[in-house]
Amino acid sequence: MTRIEPGSTIGIMGGGQLGRMLALAAAQLGYKCHIFCPEENCPAGQVSDKLTIAEYDDETALEKFANAVDVVTYEFENIPATTAKFIADRKTLRPGVKALEITQDRLSEKNFLNDSGVETAPYLAFQTADDLEIAFKEIGRPSVAKTRRFGYDGKGQVMIKSRSDKDKVIGITNETPAILEGFVNFDREISVVVARNASSDVAAFPVGENVHTNHILDTTTVPANIREIVEAKAKVIAAQVANALDYVGVLAVEMFVKDDTGDVIVNEIAPRVHNSGHWTIEGAKTSQFEQHIRAICDLPLGSPEALGKVVMKNLLGEDILDADKYLTDASASYHHYGKSDPRPGRKMGHVTWVEANN
Ligand code: AMP
Repeated sequence: MTRIEPGSTIGIMGGGQLGRMLALAAAQLGYKCHIFCPEENCPAGQVSDKLTIAEYDDETALEKFANAVDVVTYEFENIPATTAKFIADRKTLRPGVKALEITQDRLSEKNFLNDSGVETAPYLAFQTADDLEIAFKEIGRPSVAKTRRFGYDGKGQVMIKSRSDKDKVIGITNETPAILEGFVNFDREISVVVARNASSDVAAFPVGENVHTNHILDTTTVPANIREIVEAKAKVIAAQVANALDYVGVLAVEMFVKDDTGDVIVNEIAPRVHNSGHWTIEGAKTSQFEQHIRAICDLPLGSPEALGKVVMKNLLGEDILDADKYLTDASASYHHYGKSDPRPGRKMGHVTWVEANN
């Protein structure tokens, strides 16, 4: 594995806020970034050395991009797998194609987790109304139907409480491949952001406790209000997932803490830096963004230790217009992603409060 030295250029596929915060962290370590993104004026492009605006299937642009950079990473897991393979044939891609392919499909992701000995909610694939009937018998109710691909922030998901919800499910999934998942009565939702570098060193950040509103992350709090043994188990699971994927970079594992047994089971994994890790910018010795750059460049990983009690809150849509409320709060760190249109529910920025350990 080659170490990528400062002065090199990191190619980032995807131009959103995650790419923006990666590029800022890369700059601190002496790297330049080149963003590949289909949209003009993307948040990451605004703070990077170079920007290629092209579609993900534009092979001429991809070829040029691969030739112009020293290593490639991604900040968006719905980059087509064919695009990732095209890049990986030409340049080191970290994380690799495998992590992307597995996590792009909820069925392959859940199969992979279970095959790796990681527990999830029970699930069964379905497509047609007849398949759904079989899945209902097996999984029972309440349950949650989720499309296998392109679901995020609760999109492509339906909660099923009664038999009559079945028609609603087919109406929403529209016979695209989906899974039916058992509903988990959880006490709380947590996530572990974990890094693994090209030399296979692993470092997990402290567990974050996540509160979602309308299926979108609202806050992450560290430390999570969980027992030490649950914290330890969650970190072990995250490391197990990173090792099983032979992963290089930062990975997030979202989990449920079950309310009856206190057991931890995995909901989903994201092969990238994650919204529930934004607290690390001011709240940990190393941020998740710096950690990702260290990991993909095969530098030593930084300490993931938290600096105190931390709360991160997303600023969605017009919340971003309350800037002065945060700018005049001495304990708040305010982030604006450089997006101009504050559409409802759009992630526009975030705020972090750190109450430092003495
Ligand atoms: P997902 O897109 O899978 O991350 O789901 C979004 C949110 O829906 C999760 O953060 C949970 O709050 C809720 N959710 C998803 N799956 C389940 C489940 N099987 N049981 C209970 N709640 C769920």
